[in-house]
Amino acid sequence: MMDILKTKADMQAWSAAKKREGKTISFVPTMGYLHKGHVSLLEIGKPLSDELVLSIFVNPTQFGPNEDLDAYPSNIRNDLDLAQQAGVTAVFLPDKNEMYGPNYQTRVSLDHLPQYLCGRSRPVHFGGVATVVTKLFNIVMPDVAVFGKKDFQQLAIIRQMVKDLDFNIQIIGGEIIREEDGLAMSSRNAYLTPEQRTSAVCLSKAIRLLKQSVAKGIRSVPDLVREMEAFILSFEHTRIDYIELCNPRTLEPVETVQAETLVALAVQVGKSRLIDNALIEPT
Ligand code: AMP
Repeated sequence: MMDILKTKADMQAWSAAKKREGKTISFVPTMGYLHKGHVSLLEIGKPLSDELVLSIFVNPTQFGPNEDLDAYPSNIRNDLDLAQQAGVTAVFLPDKNEMYGPNYQTRVSLDHLPQYLCGRSRPVHFGGVATVVTKLFNIVMPDVAVFGKKDFQQLAIIRQMVKDLDFNIQIIGGEIIREEDGLAMSSRNAYLTPEQRTSAVCLSKAIRLLKQSVAKGIRSVPDLVREMEAFILSFEHTRIDYIELCNPRTLEPVETVQAETLVALAVQVGKSRLIDNALIEPT
């Protein structure tokens, strides 16, 4: 039996009733149009608690004015099928009026982590994410929440927020799930034409190239980035938003690869802004 709850009050009452029965709750927040990446997070959450809650909500406050809010893909029927197969016990499916009433005025913001990587080109994004995740945590009241490492900066921000605001919730990061050719799965891959889909593999291939160069002993970040840029621009329909190597804890840029380093990149391929990342260990 999978319950579908559309109001905050119903979701909170559902969770409160489970807690009174002594049940624990795992939670996977999403924007829907589920793929194997989302399912992998449900599979991580399932054995960790008695109940498994999925939320599907395309959060308007994390999209900038010229972003793809109105075009964001949706297939609720398929999402509910996948949720059922993954053993979800409740789906929280609010609409935007339910989440943000007419006089809504509170936002959660972080001082440092949102200033880097995607935060530079998406200045309102992480405030929107931190705010909606705070709301979802208060509505679902989970013991455990699972987020994908595909959105590395988002995961870092949620971990920081949970620590700073004393949420009693364990945060777990799930590995990036990829297509056979290496493209990180994303709902936004649905926008790609067949030609653009061929080019989209450039992100994961550029990361592989970087790893090879680091293994050969190249340590200069400007040199490594130049090589990745040239490689990505050799594919059609690509426009680089950023390629950065940074400290995986602070997200501050580094100039040389000395310790464990995060490589993160965002590339516009046709209408899709695609992201990918990996941790690099110099040997
Ligand atoms: P979204 O629906 O895109 O907001 O993503 C919901 C959750 O799924 C986030 O925690 C994402 O990081 C995670 N996610 C999205 N794509 C993947 C993927 N390819 N592998 C693992 N997790 C993912």
